[in-house]
Amino acid sequence: MSIGCVRGTRDLFGAELEQWQRAEDVFRTVSAAFGYQEFRTPIIEHTELFARGVGEHTDIVGKEMYTFLDRGGDSITLRPEMTAPIVRAAIEHSLVRHAPVTRLWYMGPLFRYERPQKGRYRQFHQYGAECLGSAEPEADAEIIILAHDVIRKVGVQRVELRLNTLGSPSARAAYREALVAYLEQHVDQLSEESTRRLHTNPLRVLDSKDERDRPVVASAPRLTDYLDDESTSHFRAVCSMLDAAGIAYTVDPLMVRGLDYYSHTVFEFVTDALGTQNAVCGGGRYDPLFSMLGGGNVPAVGFSIGIERLLMLLEVEQGGWAEPKGVDVYLCSIGPAAVLPGSLIALRLRRSGVTVATDLLRRSAKAQFKEANRLRATFTVTLGDDELAAGTVVVKNMQTGEQQTIASGELDRFVLAAR
Ligand code: ATP
Ligand code: MG
Repeated sequence: MSIGCVRGTRDLFGAELEQWQRAEDVFRTVSAAFGYQEFRTPIIEHTELFARGVGEHTDIVGKEMYTFLDRGGDSITLRPEMTAPIVRAAIEHSLVRHAPVTRLWYMGPLFRYERPQKGRYRQFHQYGAECLGSAEPEADAEIIILAHDVIRKVGVQRVELRLNTLGSPSARAAYREALVAYLEQHVDQLSEESTRRLHTNPLRVLDSKDERDRPVVASAPRLTDYLDDESTSHFRAVCSMLDAAGIAYTVDPLMVRGLDYYSHTVFEFVTDALGTQNAVCGGGRYDPLFSMLGGGNVPAVGFSIGIERLLMLLEVEQGGWAEPKGVDVYLCSIGPAAVLPGSLIALRLRRSGVTVATDLLRRSAKAQFKEANRLRATFTVTLGDDELAAGTVVVKNMQTGEQQTIASGELDRFVLAAR
């Protein structure tokens, strides 16, 4: 029996991979335009990092992590998210001490043991950015605009920005207490999931997707009533900066995001085109996280974009992937005497930056021309006994069918000029 890939993981190749590479170019150039530098962390971290940084009672830590003991007996986890690793690294390398505002971006695979379905995988990928060191609303606005611009530059239109504030940690704590008191009075009307969350992660009850929770949530105390002046004016400032930049959004008072470390601004870019996997990007301010990980008081804000969902959305909007690019030249060597000279011509072309495919199977001219078509070569260059004797090659333009004989020394210049 043959071996397939692990459930919830996928191979990337062909036209789809070409879209990924295009998106990755956008991530690099737009991040650089905003002054963000790439950061790469290891795929494995100490389990403790996520237990402390993401929170024991979140879905991620509670039921989604790939955790194992390594041969030395240490508990290791495949990273399920990137913010805790970035903050771990920023503390470890004293980044914020060296540059009071540190702007970082990342891209790479993440692992969550979830039920695989469309838009939900066990290995998936995120691009994201973190702005470390500023508590000011302009940092929140910068991060949201970066996420917005990246999504647009990739070519995706069908997303909506949802925004909310959780307030300062003390406002959030006061609200949490009021919410728990209220939910306790209505516990008989709540779903099992929400009953379980009531004491572990009560804010999550607000964005429950279970119909049974809706009426209870509808008359729950409002977070907005618990915001102190500082929280309100911070949120207003973020909103007015987005207004000034012409970024549309809706305020959604029930959006709380899943993680423990958020405070003040939280946001999501959602779409109506991917069924229930509707979140393409999630982010927010996480001022408490540095101190939770022993890094002192460093305010920070960031986001992450799910690359699979972003590109699924692009595919839906564009109605499918465009064909991948073909090679510039298919080099067709006919007869055993042409094999070595042909491969040397291919080598010369490749070294001058032309993409070249060759046969390697010593097949007939007909079979090689078929292969040139399959690879969508721009030119097919033929080298047989006659051409060898004359020091020439025959170049065929595969689009027009036009064919001409040129000196083999002229080939590089000819192909480069025609590209
Ligand atoms: P969801 O509500 O869909 O589970 P989430 O809140 O768990 O999302 P985040 O932790 O905020 O997601 O991660 C940011 C983004 O990463 C999401 O908006 C989504 O695009 C993507 N993402 C999260 N989990 C997965 C997954 N299992 N497979 C593919 N993409 C994912
Ligand atoms: Mg999730």
